[in-house]
Amino acid sequence: MNNTSANQGSETARVIGLIGGMSWESSAEYYKFINQEVRRRLGPLRSAKLLMYSVDFGPIEQAQHAGRWDELAGMLEDGAIRLHRGGADCVVLCTNTMHKVADRVAAAVPVPFLHIADPVGRHAAQSGVKVLGLLGTRFTMEQPFMRERLEQEFGLQVLVPDEEGRADVHRIIYEELCAGVVSEASRSTYQRVITSLAQRGAQAVVLGCTEITLLIQQRDSVLPVLDTTQLHAQAAVDFALGTD
Ligand code: GLU
Repeated sequence: MNNTSANQGSETARVIGLIGGMSWESSAEYYKFINQEVRRRLGPLRSAKLLMYSVDFGPIEQAQHAGRWDELAGMLEDGAIRLHRGGADCVVLCTNTMHKVADRVAAAVPVPFLHIADPVGRHAAQSGVKVLGLLGTRFTMEQPFMRERLEQEFGLQVLVPDEEGRADVHRIIYEELCAGVVSEASRSTYQRVITSLAQRGAQAVVLGCTEITLLIQQRDSVLPVLDTTQLHAQAAVDFALGTD
């Protein structure tokens, strides 16, 4: 048996369904992380079976800032149904913010919905971390949908930046990261915010927006980093390979 045939193996069992495009900058990272993880586990020529339904982010961002969450939930239900019709065995919503309407999306299809907070909570619990700093959009930092799931399902305490920090973190996500801009100045801003969370007692920082992975890596952070994009992608691979 040569190397190539040794790497063929049996097909990965389940098809991952991704709702992407929020923004596509982070969806590309999901695609890369998922395939890198399958390669790491199964061999160099192995890759994930997946479908992605990718939306136009412009109207979504406008509806978010106008508070039209019911309409947004409808758009994402439609995305989940399209994925299910296409043969997806699970739904992965590639944005923290839109988990505000996770219950609606999950209820739209009969296949599992892999919630983005769960691998974060499991990872924190496994590492013995009790107090988390949470970075993300204002929606994610200021509303209960992520914080409460981490607190109630995993017994964690969640801190968010002060008003000035939240404004900076939110602005950089929409004006820069979602537009494909990664700047040294913004990296420093995030580093300052992470340092102040550490000073207030956070033991790890959740990169609770799927574009932050473009800006902040473990080497940039004084706190251990819980990257929602990477952890969610790994959870999708666990599901696909039946190791969940
Ligand atoms: N991708 C981001 C998140 O994880 C923000 C973009 C959006 O509003 O969906 O929250």
